[in-house]
Amino acid sequence: MRIAMIGTGYVGLVSGACFADFGHHVTCVDKDSAKIDGLNTRVMPIWEPGLEALVNANAERRRLHFTTALEDGVRQAEAVFIAVGTPARRGDGHADLTYVFNAARELAKFIAPGAVVVTKSTVPVGTGDEIEKILLEEGAPAVSVASNPEFLREGAAIADFKHPDRIVVGAEDEHAREVLREIYRPLFLNRAPILFTGRRTAELTKYAANAFLAVKISFINEIADLCEAVDADVQDIARGIGLDNRIGPKFLHAGPGYGGSCFPKDTVALLQTAESVGVAQRIVRTTVEVNDSRKSAMAERVARALGGDVRGKRIGVLGLAFKPNTDDMREAPSIPLINDLVERGAIVSAFDPVARHQAEPLFEGVEFADDAEAVARAADALVIVTEWDEFRALDLEALAQSMRGKVLVDLRNVYDRDEAERAGLAYHGIGRGRSGTQR
Ligand code: NAD
Repeated sequence: MRIAMIGTGYVGLVSGACFADFGHHVTCVDKDSAKIDGLNTRVMPIWEPGLEALVNANAERRRLHFTTALEDGVRQAEAVFIAVGTPARRGDGHADLTYVFNAARELAKFIAPGAVVVTKSTVPVGTGDEIEKILLEEGAPAVSVASNPEFLREGAAIADFKHPDRIVVGAEDEHAREVLREIYRPLFLNRAPILFTGRRTAELTKYAANAFLAVKISFINEIADLCEAVDADVQDIARGIGLDNRIGPKFLHAGPGYGGSCFPKDTVALLQTAESVGVAQRIVRTTVEVNDSRKSAMAERVARALGGDVRGKRIGVLGLAFKPNTDDMREAPSIPLINDLVERGAIVSAFDPVARHQAEPLFEGVEFADDAEAVARAADALVIVTEWDEFRALDLEALAQSMRGKVLVDLRNVYDRDEAERAGLAYHGIGRGRSGTQR
């Protein structure tokens, strides 16, 4: 199959490289010429495990190409995927569809008759209908418009793409279904379930999935708060409920609130869709509120661990990216936490294994260190914000000795209280019984 991928970001680049690896011929298009120049000289624009090797191997086989010229990729393509960003629109939180509609307008000029336009971007229900209208207005030949939302997770994107829990395809005609079946055939043979639905259903499935995962996170975070008040342990509770097959163990890690490029914007966009049709979505609304207030409460949690005041205190932050194994800083819980600490007069030193270049422009007055040891040196408190593997086996005793204060605020429950206390640290986890931050 000949595929054009419009938008070469986290989703477009991973999807394009994986499709090429399946044996398809893929042209990845992006407006960002620095990104495309970089890719053409094999410089990856993002940090994602396994991506560089996959891109290089398929580019060498001449199955994967990068260009800023949309027409180069689109003219020959049997399927044109739209994988551009759909950020929250300023002001109201609706999904901003400017990039999607611009892409549709641009591709309309070059698309071949019979090709399938496939939306991979997360878009509100009904966007496929709008794209159809745009194509018609722009004089495109007869083509199909399908929805194929993407469920990959940053940090495990390639594995997720190649071994998905399911593939969702929303299409209104058999030709589109056939083309997508062919594109995903290698996964189909591996028995990945492919779910064919109507286009609107596929569009909404993506929002429902992200909203449900966000609900799970906010739920366990509220249970963690309750644990702190009644001396119970949220880790044990998560295990105790997660072993129930009806609940499942995933997404039950109490922490500083969800961030990232998807959950925050997608939950709010779902609410906007629901509001526009006059349907209440009280659970998702509350989830958003719980998460917003949680993220903004994290600095206070650190302050409490330090006796209430952080002015002049030196605070070491371990981990900045919104989760491990990515350099993505979008909506990362580290952002409000650090900004708030700095505003309260703390001196913040931070380290992240890969996100430094993305993080630096986001903060003012923050020192960036090269490792965990440097962050801990002379610090009054150490705060674990992102649970990178390399923070799971820190020499706590050595860190404690180099610190000025002896406070460990573990927002990801990486360590046990006993372990931290043996190293001479006062431990403040999330929902860990006698966490100390509450009393
Ligand atoms: P991104 O910001 O990393 O990439 C988008 C790219 O599109 C950018 O490189 C931008 O320059 C390019 N672009 C915009 N308009 C263009 C145009 N007209 N022509 C060519 N290129 C254009 O975004 P992302 O994280 O890859 O997300 C893309 C979509 O996928 C979003 O809708 C997002 O919600 C969804 N999604 C993201 C993830 C994720 O983990 N990042 C997972 C599932 C779904």
